[in-house]
Amino acid sequence: MDTNQKNSDNAIPITNALPRDRDWGSTLARRLTFIREWRGMSVGAVARDSHFTVERINDIETGMETWLSSSDRQLLALALKVDASILQEVETRARLEPAADPVRFEAIVADIRDSILSGLKEIECPQCGQTMRCRVQEGLDMEGQPTYRAKAFCVKCPFVI
Ligand SMILES: [Zn+2]
Repeated sequence: MDTNQKNSDNAIPITNALPRDRDWGSTLARRLTFIREWRGMSVGAVARDSHFTVERINDIETGMETWLSSSDRQLLALALKVDASILQEVETRARLEPAADPVRFEAIVADIRDSILSGLKEIECPQCGQTMRCRVQEGLDMEGQPTYRAKAFCVKCPFVI
């Protein structure tokens, strides 16, 4: 990401250096709260700029959501005008239980598929954080048209798509 990028309606540049003299939090919840207050933003302002709902920002700030998809992370980081790595480094990939939250599981799998099809080769396993083996499987459908399927498997845990 271009760290010199400027937002037209706000002169604060995107930063990858938070103030070292303060505790910016070691969890996604605390870090979001810290950066939001540091930027002088309300929950509503962050929600508006990231296109998240206010409820979702509150869920993240209360620790109910501890992991962001790559596209959501980019949106939230842009709203906060920080580098996405600042959020990613404190995310925790709690072991994903498909049966516990099938909707979220499907969303995460869909995000991984999109990332693979867009050319990403190094994607972290949503269950254990290990880098997965990813590839695009090319084939033909019944009409002879080419098809592209995203495949991924974790070398450490049983996760596979
Ligand atoms: Zn894994």
